[in-house]
Amino acid sequence: MSDNLEPVNFIRQAINADLADKKHDKIVTRFPPEPNGYLHIGHAKSIWLNFGIADDYEGECTLRFDDTNPIKEDEEFVTAIEEDVRWLGFKWSRIAHASDYFPKLHEFAIELIHKGLAYVDSLDMETMREYRGTLKEPGKNSPYRDRSVEENMDLFSRMKAGEFADGKHVLRAKIDMQSSNINLRDPVIYRIRHHAHQRTGDAWCIYPMYDFTHGLSDAIEGVTHSLCTLEFEDHRALYDWFLSHVSAPCHPRQIEFSRLNLNYSVMSKRMLTQLVNNGHVDGWDDPRMPTISGLRRRGFTASAVRNFIGSVGITKKANVIEMSMLENAVREDLDSISPRAMGVLKPLKLVIENFPEGESEPIEVANHPNDPSMGTRNILLTREIYIDHDDFMEDPPKKFFRLGPDREVRLRYGFVVHCHKVIKNDAGEVIELRCTYDPNTRHGQQPEGRKVKGIIHWVSAEHCVDASVRLYDRLFQEANPLADKTKAFTESLNPHSLQVLTNCKLELSLGSPSVDTRYQFERLGYFYPDIDSSSSHPIYNRIVTLRDSWAKIDKQRKS
Ligand code: ATP
Ligand code: MG
Repeated sequence: MSDNLEPVNFIRQAINADLADKKHDKIVTRFPPEPNGYLHIGHAKSIWLNFGIADDYEGECTLRFDDTNPIKEDEEFVTAIEEDVRWLGFKWSRIAHASDYFPKLHEFAIELIHKGLAYVDSLDMETMREYRGTLKEPGKNSPYRDRSVEENMDLFSRMKAGEFADGKHVLRAKIDMQSSNINLRDPVIYRIRHHAHQRTGDAWCIYPMYDFTHGLSDAIEGVTHSLCTLEFEDHRALYDWFLSHVSAPCHPRQIEFSRLNLNYSVMSKRMLTQLVNNGHVDGWDDPRMPTISGLRRRGFTASAVRNFIGSVGITKKANVIEMSMLENAVREDLDSISPRAMGVLKPLKLVIENFPEGESEPIEVANHPNDPSMGTRNILLTREIYIDHDDFMEDPPKKFFRLGPDREVRLRYGFVVHCHKVIKNDAGEVIELRCTYDPNTRHGQQPEGRKVKGIIHWVSAEHCVDASVRLYDRLFQEANPLADKTKAFTESLNPHSLQVLTNCKLELSLGSPSVDTRYQFERLGYFYPDIDSSSSHPIYNRIVTLRDSWAKIDKQRKS
């Protein structure tokens, strides 16, 4: 399901050209995550691109787990990745694992050895690194580079048989130690790892390296266009070298695009793993995380994520996207689909003294201001209600149009109330307001001879549910948490990224929320019930505020 917002990016142009040249009957792509963590919103870009292209060209997209490093990988991640892709609204043509191809990849390696294009090297890691040279200096040939085919075959089969310890030998492609492209300086293609693999168990103790596995897996699957991020641009020569030197069934075309980066965030599984393992967040699906599962738990919709990716577009230029752009995409999506409701986050009791005790006045209100099909509901006005503490100030400044001593305000959908008494506790904190209401101000009528500007939300103290609300702010307080190389990125974490309010009062319609509904709490933002909710105590996550409260801060930062 691609929302098709950017139909002719440069990748689609390349595909169109290949189709015009009759290079392919069918377009085949793949999304190849390594199952060593949960997917983040950067991956959503690759998913949107690969699955979107397969959809639009009536081709195929494989979900391929790049599971060649048994040490960091786990089945938990496989399951989570599948769930995330599904949630984003995409369907794979099939699921594959690079490990399915271990036998075939092993054959390709042997083919290279027989052709004199691969050799077993026995230098220790450190020496091998030294021999590799630098960007400025060419590398040096290993003394083992000219081993005979027979000797290489013998050593490689003994590596596979488990005769040697980890690190003792590696298999390298024989390309060019003088190449200006370091990736072509005899890259390692197999290493020894005595470690059980989550899928192949103890069948193997040698594992193929990423570059070797990746392109050849693409070819085995009949991929036509292998779309990857820019850091692989320098690996393309190697990608093509492997494909040209083994009897690969086809030669996929690698095309690179820029990664998605978001400010106030990090976009790397390694760093996200650190946040999870060191307890900086409450798991991979913590609603502050830029993971797909975090965004989902927070209440983001898949369509908002897709629209966001579509509007960022696919380019070759590396850049950083503003977090506010993602937040705006979710606001835009939620505005039309979210029923409205009232909730008080920091309750302050307000007693309407001239409202009869024990009575209630039903007020019929629309669930959505512009969508009559969402119906109406009754809310009840009673003598005792709650308003938000933030809507009252004892000594309000000039521009404060809400409530204060001897001031008036309109209760949303209700009447104008006048505050004539403020009750405080021993600590001097305001704990209750005494008011009167004007019965002639129903339906928006203004009181005699004056205009009341402020409107505040409220809930009936007798007809409400107790709830908790979790307010989220950006996970990092620096726009680029990696900018300062002298400190750990975790030092840029925002200590106020989570605020939990446990004494909230919500209108009754919010008492038994439906899992598929996001609500707009009037004036406060969009909210989504958290999976920690119980039937007696709902917990809501704030997805996003109604307006971009960071716009000002970002502007200051830039100026
Ligand atoms: P990470 O550093 O988070 O582990 P990765 O690139 O190693 O990222 P993989 O699981 O190997 O993660 O990625 C699967 C696919 O998703 C790759 O094709 C990769 O290029 C793409 N991808 C990863 N991060 C981004 C990103 N930020 N923007 C766009 N595509 C991405
Ligand atoms: Mg990776």
